[in-house]
Amino acid sequence: MAEATISSLQHDLKRVIPNLEISQRTADLEQHARDQSAYAAVLPDVVVWPESAADVSALLRFANERRIPVVAWGAGTSIEGNPIPVFGGIVMDMGRMNRIVALHERDFQATVQPGIFYKDMNRELGRNGLFFPPDPGANASVGGMLANNASGTRTVKYGSTRDNVLALEVVLANGEVMRTGSRSVKQSSGYDLTHLFIGSEGTLGIITEATLKLYPIPTHFSAATAAFPNVEAASEAVFEIIASGLEPTALELLDETAVEIVTAQTDLILHPGPNLFMEFSSASLAALTETLPIVREICRGYGSVSYRDGVGRNERAALWEARHSVFEAQIRHFPGQNYIVTDVSVPISRYPELIRATHKLLDELQIHGGMVSHAGDGNVHTTAFFAPDDEPGKARALDLSDRLVDLALRMSGTSTGEHGVGLGKQKFMLHEHGETTLGLMRDIKKLFDPNQILNPGKVLDLPPSYPARNP
Ligand SMILES: Cc1cc2nc3c(=O)[nH]c(=O)nc-3n(C[C@H](O)[C@H](O)[C@H](O)COP(=O)(O)OP(=O)(O)OC[C@H]3O[C@@H](n4cnc5c(N)ncnc54)[C@H](O)[C@@H]3O)c2cc1C
Repeated sequence: MAEATISSLQHDLKRVIPNLEISQRTADLEQHARDQSAYAAVLPDVVVWPESAADVSALLRFANERRIPVVAWGAGTSIEGNPIPVFGGIVMDMGRMNRIVALHERDFQATVQPGIFYKDMNRELGRNGLFFPPDPGANASVGGMLANNASGTRTVKYGSTRDNVLALEVVLANGEVMRTGSRSVKQSSGYDLTHLFIGSEGTLGIITEATLKLYPIPTHFSAATAAFPNVEAASEAVFEIIASGLEPTALELLDETAVEIVTAQTDLILHPGPNLFMEFSSASLAALTETLPIVREICRGYGSVSYRDGVGRNERAALWEARHSVFEAQIRHFPGQNYIVTDVSVPISRYPELIRATHKLLDELQIHGGMVSHAGDGNVHTTAFFAPDDEPGKARALDLSDRLVDLALRMSGTSTGEHGVGLGKQKFMLHEHGETTLGLMRDIKKLFDPNQILNPGKVLDLPPSYPARNP
């Protein structure tokens, strides 16, 4: 946007919504310029904090008339550039819309605003013995989880965010407020617009309310770790645990490098080498104590060199704290380096094959960084580190990402299991979906957002009619 337009923007916004908090302070602009990825920061022109669907509606009507880009902001923890305002404009921080609007305890549902952070929400819900299971490592907002279709350690049992949403309130690009879905767990009425918005990364509408499915917190937990001589053996054990019907609550694989980094940076004591982190839960202690020996046997059958399990919340808390710290621990381990995080996912039967191929590629391309995997979902992340001036290192990291996507697609998988398309995965969209499907996605975007004001430059390669800040 031109300088004169930018300086009058704050004034015009105040006129439209007199009580709206608006900032053009450098610190606020910088805080909303980049996510947790290594993509370049781009400053928005203003940051605003709406407090209601009515505020969001007035903002979008205003922005749509003037063709000003609008990017919703949750917690900024994305790792694919999803909320970076690459065309500048307005960043709409949803943090003030952070209430649990209604708890439908006897239906195991809650209606919430999008700015609530999921850890805060689960703390509140926990007082009623309930929780919302998708568990991304970072303290994401519910709006960001919905928009990215986040998953996490518990997806293997409870599904992704998409599987746990019943209804939405959404503000469209022209400011109209719409509702989708209902509170019935079975819904067969018309096209499923609820799930069209999930995973749309704020490119089709701004979510202002969501009704989520909740679950009772299980009474008994156990956590187990098993170390293996190599990742192939660990991945075969993963397949066997799933195939045996044991229904883990979480089943994660860390390779040797990731284990080395976690061991160096946390109090967790792990046997060196690839490790499986597992959790099982049950309403009865007896069921749980029957499960663990079977898991131990399966691990032994695939040559585990160490196996530890324990029943109770403390064991479990320590394990998942360490698991969730892996990303930051790796960044601390490679200080000042840039990185590319991969996120491919395949059907579980192809998982051991994907793990074998991933490790071969890591060796062949001499990648620095570890591999962590939501193994039970067939979802693998590698983080490839390279120095900012190391062009060959960057080329190798990009090559790794391209080759992993190619492999995953050939295995009937996807280029992104949970981080979303953002900036980095757009180049794979044609390969993954084909011309007809991608063409329909473009048509849907044009239908919902004809002036392309909503998070332009993301998901689809549709160039808007205004210039990019970061072409
Ligand atoms: C250490 C670490 C670990 C992670 N682990 C996982 C993991 O295990 N699984 C996983 O899935 N992800 C993981 N992530 C990625 C990230 O946490 C998720 O993608 C999360 O869903 C992003 O939420 P957010 O609130 O930070 O959203 P943001 O990054 O702020 O925004 C994400 C997208 O949502 C849009 N958006 C935000 N609010 C709304 C709204 N109300 N309406 C419409 N669009 C909106 C934004 O425009 C943007 O496109 C991890 C990230 C980190 C840093």
